[in-house]
Amino acid sequence: MSTNAHRRGIHHPGSRNTARTSRIEPTLFEQADAFVTLVRGAADQGACLMPGCTECGALAFRRALSTFDGTGDAGRVNMPARVVRDAPGPLARAMANVDFELLRTADHWHGALDLALLHLRERGELHWVVDAWLARERIPVRVLELVLYRHARHAYPDHRLADLWIERCVEALHAGNMDEGLVEALILGCPERIVSDPHAHRLVNEAARRSLSVRSLLGRLGGCG
Ligand SMILES: [Zn+2]
Repeated sequence: MSTNAHRRGIHHPGSRNTARTSRIEPTLFEQADAFVTLVRGAADQGACLMPGCTECGALAFRRALSTFDGTGDAGRVNMPARVVRDAPGPLARAMANVDFELLRTADHWHGALDLALLHLRERGELHWVVDAWLARERIPVRVLELVLYRHARHAYPDHRLADLWIERCVEALHAGNMDEGLVEALILGCPERIVSDPHAHRLVNEAARRSLSVRSLLGRLGGCG
């Protein structure tokens, strides 16, 4: 099951931002950044960290997430939560407090983060993490894009947080971070939002002027409003 191709992770280069604040204060134990430790440990052991893997389903890491989170036996990694916790569980706490800068030094961090976000979504705990991240001064563009495309555009974890997340993505573009991947995720993920928001629409058109990739995407889609 483990092959070289298998261990190919998606490792995006991105901007170098620093995590600042979180509404969920870490305990002394968590200050060691438990989530980064978990990801590094999995990568060191050669675990597959590709969310879409059709060879192993990233099962080893999903089991590790389940074990870390204390959400039952390892054979039932995808069982939805019967009772939604009224406070963040171990994984939600670790992710709410993750140091993005540190995380991005881990091999295959992007796939690992995606898998962990999916775990929390299935458990009904994604809101704890998104809420904590939104309170930060900076969110790396690759994280903005990941949460936007995989969750927020589907109104996860809820409409309010999804809207706030999309707004953060638009703000990131406005702040001069005209990242092609983020622009394209906005165009493909929430086209109605872009068309109906004059500010976002202007930013996308500005990105199209600068980027051949964005221009081609808009060309294929027949423009953006
Ligand atoms: Zn795999």
